[in-house]
Amino acid sequence: MKIRKDDTVLVVAGKDKGKKGKVRFAYPKDERILVEGVNFIKMHSRARRQVRQAGLIEREASIHVSNVMLLCSRCNHPVRVGFRMLEDGRKVRFCRSCGEAID
Ligand SMILES: [Zn+2]
Repeated sequence: MKIRKDDTVLVVAGKDKGKKGKVRFAYPKDERILVEGVNFIKMHSRARRQVRQAGLIEREASIHVSNVMLLCSRCNHPVRVGFRMLEDGRKVRFCRSCGEAID
């Protein structure tokens, strides 16, 4: 997946368009990520015996990777990510704008 945990991304679609945040979790299987401070949803929860907190809870929900772009630390703007094979066979991501390897 092009986006991984601890990346800094810019949201380019949806209600949080324009927000920047750090990726807290990545779910490669679903191609979804959880971004800090992005896509808060309100959840109604029923009071449970163990948990006193009831009513409205706000938490972040995952968004699809296609809704974000990686912020390149070198270019300092949202970029497209490419993949490149190293001589030792490892696959690394690189910034399509400046060519810098990302991992
Ligand atoms: Zn770059």
